[in-house]
Amino acid sequence: MKRVAVLGGGPAGAFAAQRLASAGLETIVLDEKLAWEKPCGGGLTFKAYSRYPFLLDNDVPKRFVSNTTLSAHGAGAARLPLRRPLLIYSRFDLNRMLLERAERAGAQIEKTRVLEVTRNGGTWKVRTSSGSIEADFCIVATGARNPLRNLGTQLTAGDVMTALGYYVPGQQDHVDIQFLRRIEGYIWVFPRCGHLSVGICGKGVPAQVLRARLEEFMRERGICWKDGCFYSHLLPSLGASGWRNNRVAGPGWLAVGDAGGLVDPITGEGLYYAMRSADLAGEVVLSDAHAPLEKHRAYRSLLVRDFAADLAFGAAIARHVFLGKFLFGAVPQRMVQFLRRSPRLCDLMQDLFAGTQSYLGLKGRLLRNLHGAVVDALVSFVLSREAAEEYRA
Ligand SMILES: Cc1cc2nc3c(=O)[nH]c(=O)nc-3n(C[C@H](O)[C@H](O)[C@H](O)COP(=O)(O)OP(=O)(O)OC[C@H]3O[C@@H](n4cnc5c(N)ncnc54)[C@H](O)[C@@H]3O)c2cc1C
Repeated sequence: MKRVAVLGGGPAGAFAAQRLASAGLETIVLDEKLAWEKPCGGGLTFKAYSRYPFLLDNDVPKRFVSNTTLSAHGAGAARLPLRRPLLIYSRFDLNRMLLERAERAGAQIEKTRVLEVTRNGGTWKVRTSSGSIEADFCIVATGARNPLRNLGTQLTAGDVMTALGYYVPGQQDHVDIQFLRRIEGYIWVFPRCGHLSVGICGKGVPAQVLRARLEEFMRERGICWKDGCFYSHLLPSLGASGWRNNRVAGPGWLAVGDAGGLVDPITGEGLYYAMRSADLAGEVVLSDAHAPLEKHRAYRSLLVRDFAADLAFGAAIARHVFLGKFLFGAVPQRMVQFLRRSPRLCDLMQDLFAGTQSYLGLKGRLLRNLHGAVVDALVSFVLSREAAEEYRA
């Protein structure tokens, strides 16, 4: 293999290009915007920055947030301190840092729009707005709005959330998450360097309904959106069948990040999976163990072993997490109520926020702790706070 074309230079494409170029492969990144403020919270979990410490060790502006408030209809709010803080970047800064790493590693970066990709024998022809190039292999990293018909995940209506919001002037020291009544999704307020990102995501709900719901929330919180900057985008959130039929790779090409649907279907975390899938794609492309036309199979199994089986399981329980019932109330409502009263549930939620608790391991942990968590909650209902702490000790 002589030359790899990386289509798209967001976090997934830039990371893959850095990995391939630093191994000496001729790598060209084609992106129509290069560094840009993609609509995104920009939040990176402990799982992301502990695996990729360069996300911490740099001079790029970023924020650490160590507190979250979760709220749900009929349950009020619960504060959840984060043992492992969330790291928040502006997407312009994050994208630029990742592209610069790729460039320093030797990748060629070109600002152009990819129009069409066709295969002739063993060679790809990539037609762009500024001409065309040939490549032996393609990494597809064109994000959730991937315009390439023949490559990457085919997202159906059941496989995406609509996400929209405002960047508004303001500051706060914590992240807010508000679960929504009868909607598979949530509202967030993310403090970023110099402003807040306030947004909403939901599955199967028209954008105007989400926007009205978000503005109602902002009105209640006294957050003015009139001077804000509106954004909207798609957030892949594959359903169970979406994961089973996911067109994530084929002979001579591998899709990474959002173009492969590789996003947590419950939390919407995609940045870690963009970089992780790019890392795995790089490993497969560079490995001599697989023939070029077999690489897509190796990539699929690596993804499944690494995180895709867990995300597919997340997809199977997502609806229940947002819309299910538990002890005669909505799951989010009970979760917030229990969070205020059960240290065991707080521990579990902290690990979910840090990305260190898998969905596959969740059921076992919940079953092991549920009895304790219910007892925690009941005890704190019946006894004073001091007496409840004494009881737990
Ligand atoms: C509102 C919102 C909030 C989010 N918040 C978070 C969060 O806080 N934390 C988190 O982990 N994840 C979050 N996500 C998900 C995260 O943004 C994505 O998972 C992540 O950006 C995926 O990276 P990517 O490189 O795969 O795709 P993208 O970042 O979308 O990059 C794709 C790139 O391809 C380029 N491109 C597309 N088509 C072409 C073409 N035809 N020719 C040339 N270039 C092209 C684009 O210019 C772009 O640079 C959020 C998503 C949304 C929508």
